[in-house]
Amino acid sequence: MSTRNIEKILKPESFNWVGDAFYTTSFIGREITRRRMDPFFALGYNADIHFEAKKIPRGVGAHPHKGFETVTLAYKGNIEHEDSRGNHGVIKEGDVQWMTAGSGILHKEHHEKEWSQAGGMFQMVQMWVNLPAKDKETTPKYQELIYNEMTEYPLENNGGRVKIIAGEYKGLQGKGTTFSPIHLFNVELNKDGFADFTFPNDYNTAILIIEGSVLVNDSQEMNKDSFAMFENNVGDTFTLKATSEKTLVLVLSGEPLNEPIAHYGPFVMNTQDQLAQAFEDFQAGKFGVLN
Ligand code: MN
Repeated sequence: MSTRNIEKILKPESFNWVGDAFYTTSFIGREITRRRMDPFFALGYNADIHFEAKKIPRGVGAHPHKGFETVTLAYKGNIEHEDSRGNHGVIKEGDVQWMTAGSGILHKEHHEKEWSQAGGMFQMVQMWVNLPAKDKETTPKYQELIYNEMTEYPLENNGGRVKIIAGEYKGLQGKGTTFSPIHLFNVELNKDGFADFTFPNDYNTAILIIEGSVLVNDSQEMNKDSFAMFENNVGDTFTLKATSEKTLVLVLSGEPLNEPIAHYGPFVMNTQDQLAQAFEDFQAGKFGVLN
């Protein structure tokens, strides 16, 4: 095995409000292109922010999605979702909601009512995972991956554990199902906890430090809120060693789809014709109704 090195490290630059509930910075789609991190089309990171108590929850009103999946990871705070296919749910700290927009939905997302009324610290990630061309029209669905039910791999020497959201770690399979090969983990490390990761070296691969700090490959220090993308086609294994207590790292790796992308706002298709059709279908009310 040889070392897979970091190609680029990004720190949060500008944050933007999504509705009044999410204050996010983008790690994919700017300096690191969507193509370079394919099939991870977008990654919005809401770094720690404090919300004052509010009776009517902050949120984002009904909006469409088509042709991809939204994967929402709650780290602090509770998030409520509902869509025009009748799906509804709340995810809490450590939970993940994996929504397949597929053929098209309307979606609302907001702070959970009770959480909003208490207020508190909020931290989350939402990724957009592109769908293969053959699955763009798949029936929308919703997977709720609850923290306590996730497959986990205990690390040696009481180092912590790998929570497997989707894909596989050292022979253990996560419960999340995907349309293309993807590995997605939350890695919890105690101080000096150590974990190694081996993925096919053409899979686009990155980490985001959610809490604490780590030494990557025994050489590169990374701190909270920083994002690193690994180089491709050279080396196959990288390691993480926590340099602080209660370290938490999001690890993502996926086989590139390498298909044409036609994108406008919340629609991610393969051709301009499909994009125009998606917009027409949305305007015609074919994504359903969500009040
Ligand atoms: Mn949405």
